[in-house]
Amino acid sequence: MQSLEFHNVTLNYDAPKRGEAGLLALENLDLVLDGGQSIAIIGPSGCGKSSTLQMAAGLLQPTSGSVTVDGEPIVRPRQSTALILQDFGLLPWKTVIKNAELGLKVRGIARDERRKRAREALALVGLAGFEDTYPDGLSGGMQQRLALARSLALDVDLLLMDEPLSALDALLREQLQDTLLELWKNEGYAQVLVTHSIEEAVYLGQRVYVLAPRPGHVVDVVENPHMGDKAYRGSDEFFALCTRIRSALHRTSSEAEGHGKVLPHA
Ligand code: ADP
Ligand code: MG
Repeated sequence: MQSLEFHNVTLNYDAPKRGEAGLLALENLDLVLDGGQSIAIIGPSGCGKSSTLQMAAGLLQPTSGSVTVDGEPIVRPRQSTALILQDFGLLPWKTVIKNAELGLKVRGIARDERRKRAREALALVGLAGFEDTYPDGLSGGMQQRLALARSLALDVDLLLMDEPLSALDALLREQLQDTLLELWKNEGYAQVLVTHSIEEAVYLGQRVYVLAPRPGHVVDVVENPHMGDKAYRGSDEFFALCTRIRSALHRTSSEAEGHGKVLPHA
């Protein structure tokens, strides 16, 4: 993949019934991701983050504007894009290795090849030796690693992640962030990370899109050229960008609170 581009994208969800109003979920969204790059999208719930990923995955079409990969509109899911959801999407009745093979099976890859690629992917995320365990026997962090392995086994060039670490506690979350950073640096795919965490966005995104709701729109685009290693978390640049994003988010939430409200008389 050379590039994923959103140009002036508007997304309107249809009204549930005729005559009722539809919902404008996203307005004038412009977003660019070059091959091998990493971007993060942050914003409060309802600002259209998941909808954006669904469009990037080809599961949802924009109402107007365009979403393209290498200049072509994405009209259906691509073989070389993977989407990881918050709830992991694991099958509890299948072993770790079978779960890791799932995407390959869906793509019609032969059994031996499947096994080999799934084993390699499990090793990459630190789950070698757990092939015959069931997901129930794994911790939350390991389950998330398994979901990641399933996508890595597909050898994708675009990895889309919807709040993948939000179910994990803080320490585990940092470990997984390190894993995500290392894999992204070593494996060469482009990634879009949707997150609620400011630190996570700044640790993992070369560019951070800050969104606000009603309707979803971009309020800030923050370039983050110094990201890329563990030490970044302790640097002045890291803190400065976290502060900038925090204040952009606070502005959006006070905007939203003021929205449509009648101010009380003093
Ligand atoms: P986020 O992931 O940032 O929380 P979403 O993309 O899930 O935001 O949702 C954006 C807006 O669109 C929200 O107001 C949500 O209620 C609405 N929405 C999401 N999915 C649908 C749907 N399938 N039908 C109607 N409205 C939806
Ligand atoms: Mg969401």
